Amino acid sequence: MPSRPLRHLPILMLLLALMALSGFGAHRFAQQLGLAELQTTGLHRLDLYTASLEREIGKYAFLPGTLGLERDVLALLGQADGDKLAHQVNVYLEQLNERAGTLSIYVINTAGKVVASSNWRRADSFIGEDLSFRPYFREAMASGSGRFFGIGTTRGEPGYYLASTLSDDSRTLGVAVIKVSLEQLEKSWSTVEAPAMVSDENGVVILGSVADWKFATLRPLDEATRSSFDQTQQYNRRALKALGMTEITEFEHGARLVSIARDGPEIVGVYPITGRFLAQSRPLPGTPWTLTVLSHLEQVDEIAQSRAMVAAVGTAFLFMLGLMLDERRRRLKDRLAAREALQKAHDELERKVDERTGDLSAANQLLQDEITERIRAERTLRAAQDELVQAGKLAVIGQLSAGIAHELNQPLAALRTLSGNGVRFLERGDLPTTRTNLERIAQLVDRMGLITSQLRTFARKSSGKLQPVALCQALENALALLEPRLRQAEAEIVRHCPLPEPWARCDANRLEQVLVNLIGNALDAMDGQPVPRIEIDCYGCDGQAWLSVRDHGAGLAAEALAHLFEPFFTTKAAGVGLGLGLTISAGIVRDFGGTLSGANHPDGGAVFTLQIPLLDEAERHD
Ligand code: ADP
Repeated sequence: MPSRPLRHLPILMLLLALMALSGFGAHRFAQQLGLAELQTTGLHRLDLYTASLEREIGKYAFLPGTLGLERDVLALLGQADGDKLAHQVNVYLEQLNERAGTLSIYVINTAGKVVASSNWRRADSFIGEDLSFRPYFREAMASGSGRFFGIGTTRGEPGYYLASTLSDDSRTLGVAVIKVSLEQLEKSWSTVEAPAMVSDENGVVILGSVADWKFATLRPLDEATRSSFDQTQQYNRRALKALGMTEITEFEHGARLVSIARDGPEIVGVYPITGRFLAQSRPLPGTPWTLTVLSHLEQVDEIAQSRAMVAAVGTAFLFMLGLMLDERRRRLKDRLAAREALQKAHDELERKVDERTGDLSAANQLLQDEITERIRAERTLRAAQDELVQAGKLAVIGQLSAGIAHELNQPLAALRTLSGNGVRFLERGDLPTTRTNLERIAQLVDRMGLITSQLRTFARKSSGKLQPVALCQALENALALLEPRLRQAEAEIVRHCPLPEPWARCDANRLEQVLVNLIGNALDAMDGQPVPRIEIDCYGCDGQAWLSVRDHGAGLAAEALAHLFEPFFTTKAAGVGLGLGLTISAGIVRDFGGTLSGANHPDGGAVFTLQIPLLDEAERHD
């Protein structure tokens, strides 16, 4: 990724280009406006200066003609020689010149010779001079009047010559000439705001607000023209230097963009005289002259530059504003897009959640169905298990039946003997012996009742309800049940039941069933032994109630160890063992929350251990 300044380079370039473009445009526009304004002002100035010049010249225009009204003047021109008259005319002209404020007034005869002059007193007076070469004389002789700007041949004084023919009724007698100084006008021009000048038909500046410009040429003069000046002595052999004005562009209404490059001062009065100007010219009516007003472009340039600057800065500002707005718009767009994406994600999530919820509810339904099914199966299983337990019990009873039958036979035989003897003793009248016999009969009946009641209790279907049971008591009940068998086998039962005896939450009937089964198996294992010994330990330890039955038989074979709790695994002969005893016992103990395990004792024989959670004192009374 380019570094920050580099990344902004194109924008910066664009900004600079726009600034330059707008600056240039504003500059051009301001310049056009400024030029138009300058043109209007220039035209006003032209009007003003033309009017003032015309007024100045017009003041004297009539003067030469009025000399024709003077008889003396006409007379002087008419006669060949007349000193006295000449003197009078000289004095008259002198006075007139003084009053009119002109430079000089003189009269020339048709030969071109000055016959009278206002400056007659001066040594360099024109009198007697031949001025037939002067254009104004020729012009007047040819057309009746002549006008000419020129520099005096005698005193080198520049002035405007106004000539008019003087004639009597029939012929031309001569020419009256007035030389007017334009200095006065020039002085008033020096206060103008912009330089102005009057150039003659030759393009020579004859009048100007800048003294330095006088007798400068606006256009190059060819040799022929220059030599004609020598003849007429129009500029009295003055060096006519070029003004150094070059035209740059030409506008409408005779306006031109010019540049003046000239040695010397750059500023005269209040305005600069070199540089670029707007030049506006107009021919001066009644003269071959041209009035030119020059307006410096400095101000226009300054205004154009400042406008260009403002435009460039404005453009930069607008550009920045645009950038900022664009950035804001982009951010807004991004935010909207992000929001849209978020909304989309949210919608998608919602859709998925809906979908999953659907799935979930379907799964939930499935699960519930499954649970219901499991419960049903569990119930079926439990029912089957109950049935199995019951079957197990009946099997045990079956096993016990021989012993019980034997157990009952004995008292029954005794009862038969006792009752037979009793009848005989009664017949003999031996009542005490009869009583003893009857008491013996009652005892035997009680014993038989006890055996059958135990068997009934054992055969009874269990409620399946768990309640606190004293384990040693349950053991006693189991042993009582097995009593006939134990006695028959002459088995020795070694019991360890420490006080306080352990209690556990279980079903007493079922626990007895388990114990009958374990002790029965132990007896089976020691079948044939003269004194089978069974050691039964019952104790509570580490929150567990333990009850172990150990025999001294052959122990558990490897195969038996592997399949001990599997249904229908038995090593006993058909009809003796079903192979359900341990399976049912393990199931019963599992229902109590305990475990049943079988192992071989290190000293021989098998040991079966039953473990059920121990009930503490408080729990027993719940
Ligand atoms: P049954 O007694 O009907 O065979 P059991 O489930 O009670 O069924 O016993 C399964 C088998 O486990 C027996 O057949 C026997 O091989 C073995 N067994 C059980 N208890 C002992 C024991 N105390 N000593 C040796 N083997 C035993």
